[in-house]
Amino acid sequence: MPGVVICSKNGDVGIREAVEVLRRGGSAIDAVEAGIRPVESNPDDHSVGYSGLPNLLGQVELDSSIMDGRTLATGAVGAIKDYEHPISIARKVMEDLPHVILVGTGAERFAAEMGFEKKDLLTEEARQVYEKLWTEKFPEVYGHRERYLDRMRELVKHAADPEKPNETVNFIARDDRGDIACGVSTSGWAWKYPGRLGDSPIIGAGNYADNRYGAAACTGRGEMAIRAGTARSVVLYLKMGMSLLEAGTEAMKDLHAVVDPYIGSMNIVAMDAGGNHAAFTNSEGATYVFMTTAMKEPEEKPRILVPTPGLTR
Ligand code: ASP
Repeated sequence: MPGVVICSKNGDVGIREAVEVLRRGGSAIDAVEAGIRPVESNPDDHSVGYSGLPNLLGQVELDSSIMDGRTLATGAVGAIKDYEHPISIARKVMEDLPHVILVGTGAERFAAEMGFEKKDLLTEEARQVYEKLWTEKFPEVYGHRERYLDRMRELVKHAADPEKPNETVNFIARDDRGDIACGVSTSGWAWKYPGRLGDSPIIGAGNYADNRYGAAACTGRGEMAIRAGTARSVVLYLKMGMSLLEAGTEAMKDLHAVVDPYIGSMNIVAMDAGGNHAAFTNSEGATYVFMTTAMKEPEEKPRILVPTPGLTR
């Protein structure tokens, strides 16, 4: 079986680099990191890394995790500011610390200690979208920062726009030794409450890899994936003997039990231990991308639609 990489649609800017790593004999974990870094640097992607949309205070806070299916080693950072490549910092957490997750100022301290460069992540374009939110949706508090600071827990309920497509980036790679790795990186929900973590840095929710059975990663409303333990569920269903199609469908159906006034889009990319892949969604028309070391160009494929009751789109 040749090496294979799959990713969410916005990963198409990095998938060739990930495949190139596999072609050179690199590991699945190297391929995942190499694939995600160009997405984190992409100024046109407002859901990941540099130029991600900010939180309620106008600060870009990033979440990321990486997992190595050989050993179940994993590392994650959450709500980290001022560093462009949280995937690489997450990897360092995995390799250099006796911990799994670092958040906020602790994650930033660690990034500095490991020699990562600081960078202002809020682009002019993202700042303008943020300004527009306040001027159009909340003119009464616009320009009165002290007024909205007192009302943030109320504002966050209105600010989150479920129609606005967010797409965390997901990558899963399997190298020709059969090793599997999985990585996720995001700026999370636009206008989130400061300090909010989504599913991306929560191992088992937004990301999980185990060589013996496969891997899965999620995008969409992270709160739902956290509550249902979605990525780990897919892998556990594979362990229980389900096919990839059954496992992904079952994990999507588990989300039906999540009672949630902010119910939103949910998407899974998944791979089994043999390198077969599929992706699942509750939104019409969603796709994912895959490429093997034998292919010249990546290919886009439709996701399997598993509608969520109460969500119309
Ligand atoms: N899952 C991410 C989060 O909840 C966001 C997304 O994929 O759109 O932070």
